[in-house]
Amino acid sequence: MEAKKVPQVDFAVIGGSSTFSINFPEDLQRGDTRIIADALTFETPYGVSPPLKLFMLDKKKIITVKMHGWRGGIARADASRQVFWVFREAGVKKIVSEGGVGSINRLLRPRDLIVPTDYLDFSMRKDVSLGGAFLLTMRKSVCPGIRRELVRSAEAEAVGRVFDRGVYAVTDGRHFESPAEVEMLYRLGADIVGQSMCPEVYLAREIGACYGRMDMVVNYAEGVIKEWDYEEMAGIFYGEPGKIGSIILNTLARIEPEQSCGCTQYRKPSLLKEKT
Ligand SMILES: [Zn+2]
Repeated sequence: MEAKKVPQVDFAVIGGSSTFSINFPEDLQRGDTRIIADALTFETPYGVSPPLKLFMLDKKKIITVKMHGWRGGIARADASRQVFWVFREAGVKKIVSEGGVGSINRLLRPRDLIVPTDYLDFSMRKDVSLGGAFLLTMRKSVCPGIRRELVRSAEAEAVGRVFDRGVYAVTDGRHFESPAEVEMLYRLGADIVGQSMCPEVYLAREIGACYGRMDMVVNYAEGVIKEWDYEEMAGIFYGEPGKIGSIILNTLARIEPEQSCGCTQYRKPSLLKEKT
């Protein structure tokens, strides 16, 4: 395969299950978006990247990938590393991700939107890294600037209830959690459960990019409130992506590449240097 040069891009969108059923951003039929290139793949040290799309939102250039880059036959850790290797080469500064989650907090219900502020990582992908010699502090793992604009855009869209904080428990999947696991996550302080915030949040910090995300509740977690409904989940899957895509674009329209938010201060040079 021919090695392609990665374009320079300030902004990235990691699409998840909330936009999976549409062509993002074309299907939103907005006058301010224009596709530059589609189905771009790049050779990375972790294998060939998933297909990425490059588009303009007014004067901003944005790169996007569907479903976190996950695909059959590729380990999820490698898929994430491929995506973030491309983002690093592209010089991406701001990343907005989205996904569907199960509700653990008893106050939540399907179709609620949450902009998570912290996480508990129960995935088994902890050695995921791009090899950068950095000490990564996860004190404020979610960019306060992206978070503020996601909440503002979601509230302006009037899509229903929007929660501006929450703890996202990350599991490995691909199966959902058992009732006992959900009860454990509840006692530990999780509000929602899903499979994508980690390792994305670590990798974003490693490449020096700001990271924020928005998650839609697509089902009650097992054992919470009532048994979840497959039909309702399908209704959300096919019925809500336009709103989520619109919120993401409106958020990107309001954020700039500069990082006065302070996120970059949490990446320090590693102290574990070998003596030469
Ligand atoms: Zn930031």
